[in-house]
Amino acid sequence: MASTKYIFVTGGVTSSLGKGIISASLAKLLQARGYRVTIQKLDPYINVDPGTLNPYEHGECYVTEDGAETDLDLGHYERFLGTPTSQGNNVTTGRIYQSVIEKERRGDYLGKTVQVIPHITDEIKNRVKILGETGNYDIVITEIGGTVGDIEAVPYIESVRQLKWEMERDCMVVHLTLLPFLAVTGELKTKPTQHSVKTLLESGVQPDVLVCRSEHAIDEDIRRKLALFTNVRPKNVIESRDASTIYEVPVMMYKEKLDESVLDYFGLESKQQPDLDKWRDFLSRLKYPKRTVEIGLIGKYVELKDSYKSITESFIHAGAANEVEVKIRWIHSEHLTEKNAASTCKGLDGLLVAPGFGERGFEGKVATVQYARENKIPYFGICYGMQAAVIEYARNVLGYTDANTTEVNPKTSKPVIALMDEQMHITDKGGTMRLGAQQCELAEDSIARAAYGEAHITERHRHRYEFNNDFKDVLTEAGLKATGINPDSGLVEIIEVEDHPFFVGVQYHPEYKSTVVKPHPLFVAFIKACDEFHQNK
Ligand code: GLN
Repeated sequence: MASTKYIFVTGGVTSSLGKGIISASLAKLLQARGYRVTIQKLDPYINVDPGTLNPYEHGECYVTEDGAETDLDLGHYERFLGTPTSQGNNVTTGRIYQSVIEKERRGDYLGKTVQVIPHITDEIKNRVKILGETGNYDIVITEIGGTVGDIEAVPYIESVRQLKWEMERDCMVVHLTLLPFLAVTGELKTKPTQHSVKTLLESGVQPDVLVCRSEHAIDEDIRRKLALFTNVRPKNVIESRDASTIYEVPVMMYKEKLDESVLDYFGLESKQQPDLDKWRDFLSRLKYPKRTVEIGLIGKYVELKDSYKSITESFIHAGAANEVEVKIRWIHSEHLTEKNAASTCKGLDGLLVAPGFGERGFEGKVATVQYARENKIPYFGICYGMQAAVIEYARNVLGYTDANTTEVNPKTSKPVIALMDEQMHITDKGGTMRLGAQQCELAEDSIARAAYGEAHITERHRHRYEFNNDFKDVLTEAGLKATGINPDSGLVEIIEVEDHPFFVGVQYHPEYKSTVVKPHPLFVAFIKACDEFHQNK
């Protein structure tokens, strides 16, 4: 293909319309037609990355192979496309300003006054074009965070205007909007969309496609009216009805011909129909499960379910692979104690203790582990959930009543989880954890080895504390096996307990690598164990 094509996805009327899912669905369709596609997210906040954000603010922090701490939408991109993203796929205002200010300090601007236009907009434009210039992609989709009209989004919309002007037909804008339904009159209203497009037009940006979220079908009259008021061709007014699952959206967008509108705009070949066989197979397994299992998800951010987005999506993938529906019982780790564990977890087929930081709710995680281990309920601990498992074992099997992580009790006499050496002198919080893909070797005859079906794996990390190898021998002798080890550092990445249907703790985050087409093997094995447990009850 001659030149890379750029698609910008903007949002109007309200936030949370699902720009990430529309971007990922469009990318999926273009990929399924044989194009090489990537998706990028531009976030207008001033944090350099979301790594330092409390999950209550924006949900989960998603970690890429190269160790970037990014927006959770990147997780959707990877789950839909099955191709890795990287630091270049998520850019924030903070990062843009940081690099402009660094250049200014170096004297790169040769005495010029540094301004939003052209310096900030040039930096934004470069971050967009850099993906196309790798030569790896035919199409780059850039999602602009926030809603058109937001003060913080102004430099981004201005950059889109400039890129459209520079690249003409190689650049297009898809605007996602909402058609509210007024029950009293039984009508879909177009006015908010007209206004949001006017706001875009005031910034000099003409959208080329409108994707309209709506609870009801959009008839021809509404389509024509929207087209007339927004200068968009009627066939480029796309209906996006509420879906029962996000994974339905690519198929819905295919029926609505969103991908055809895009290819048509760029003058690209659309003869090859998208190959969605694997996708449809996944959807039918998802829709027609044979059984249901209920899993307890224990964490301290359960009020905002987006805090555990990749975990819940991994359950969906692994459920479909096993042809079972996975129901989640959300359990606040602060409310769980040794005393109420049995009643809180009653009837569950499996327990997953989620990642986390700090003291709040940690004892609830340890109590969950004890309940799962003693009652032989399938247990899967991720990151802090693995560390809680080690601590629980040391306390209740070895009798080290004071065992803890130094994150919670720096003075513990049994620091079975301790700060990694490489972390000792780090004081900055942003981007300084052990991050991204790391090697791991799996022990023979382990649950992990059987699940992965291979001896060497790489998985993504995000932590500062680790299994303390000083306690490895004594814990191993007591029955807590280290079944995954990093070959370079000797760090323990996986622990397992024998004589249990499924007891696995992983220091890394398997949830970041689960996709629709490749569900994560450990999640698949865990759900299988939960299903067996359920059937044997
Ligand atoms: N707080 C723990 C650590 O930093 C676990 C981190 C996590 O669960 N992501 O090591």
